[in-house]
Amino acid sequence: MKVPFADLRAMHEEVRGEIEAAWRGLVDRSAFIGGPAVAEFERAFAEYCEVPHAVGVGSGTDALRIALQAVGIRAGDLVLTVPHTFIATVEGITQAGASPVFIDIEADSYTMDPVLVEEYLERGCRLKDGVFVERKSGRRVAGLVPVDLYGHPADWDRLVALARKFELKIVEDACQAHGARYRGARCGTFGHAAAFSFYPGKNLGAMGEAGAITTADAAVAERCRVLRDHGQQERYIHITGEGGNARLDALQAAVLSAKLQRLEAWNEARRRVAAWYASRLEGLGVTLPQEMPWAAHVYHLYVVLLDERDRVRSALDRAGVQTGLHYPVPLHLQGAYASLGHRSGDFPVSERVANHGLSLPMFPHLTETQVDTVVAVLRVALASGMVAR
Ligand SMILES: *Cc1c(COP(=O)(O)O)cnc(C)c1O
Repeated sequence: MKVPFADLRAMHEEVRGEIEAAWRGLVDRSAFIGGPAVAEFERAFAEYCEVPHAVGVGSGTDALRIALQAVGIRAGDLVLTVPHTFIATVEGITQAGASPVFIDIEADSYTMDPVLVEEYLERGCRLKDGVFVERKSGRRVAGLVPVDLYGHPADWDRLVALARKFELKIVEDACQAHGARYRGARCGTFGHAAAFSFYPGKNLGAMGEAGAITTADAAVAERCRVLRDHGQQERYIHITGEGGNARLDALQAAVLSAKLQRLEAWNEARRRVAAWYASRLEGLGVTLPQEMPWAAHVYHLYVVLLDERDRVRSALDRAGVQTGLHYPVPLHLQGAYASLGHRSGDFPVSERVANHGLSLPMFPHLTETQVDTVVAVLRVALASGMVAR
């Protein structure tokens, strides 16, 4: 039996009728940018995230850049983030004109390590003429972009306390964590603003590109609305500066509103799949994903750590079980960031997860029988490695 890594079709069959009806209405009216479909989705998504404001944008990458600009990150600033994430996290920082400072992740949650953040801020930075700057570069240290990676929240209480103490702005990268909770509160509520992606494969996905920013701050929300639409508060009037074109379109908003109704059930289904994996993988010498006591994980990805990851992955592939790597090369070792001058060994936890992490099939409609197949194939692959050694 073949097991795909992800299968979006079953989700779309559940909502096909609603989406087709909504799209027919939009074609009838032939109004595609903004309008009631976008406003309705923004209202519903804000309510779902238990946050006052949501602003729809063109993608998660747009959401990160615009959120950083809206909270006050300026050209030349330094912004702390993690090397173990999708590159878009850092693109948002550089596209806002700032530069990333990498901080390693924790070994259990795979999210930004607050101890290392504190160490960098205490030892690596100082106040100079009333501005908090990095000692070695003299540049202003202005913000923090922790990532709720794989659907598991970062350790927000500790990160927020540090941001308060050092007066840093937080933009939460919640692009993988729609619906996750930290001590009962939703992801998307912990920073001055948060970024979501609705790339089709995310827990809440569009049928194309889309994203959103959530915030409790009305002024930040208003700046995001202006920045996503050419700096306009009124049509053809650009008072505070230019923005760009990063709008959410009505066809995607209609899809997202329909799918949002099912998100809780689909996240529950992912948690059920994760529990099936956990009970079957116990004792196989595989490191399972942790759900910290303060977390409600939504398993965007189910990532295990293995010795001989590449060999095991090939064996699974030959047996028809598709897997993924998220992400095989940490960002500090990518050519794109060579100018930062990092070397192998600089961020050991990130490097370990990059070298040993394997993403197993994970989607809401994955069946218990399919999980049994994945685990059976994995058992054989692990055992054949032992014989060979
Ligand atoms: C998907 C993702 C993004 C970018 O979202 P897009 O909608 O693809 O631009 C950013 N950060 C993380 C962690 C992501 O997983």
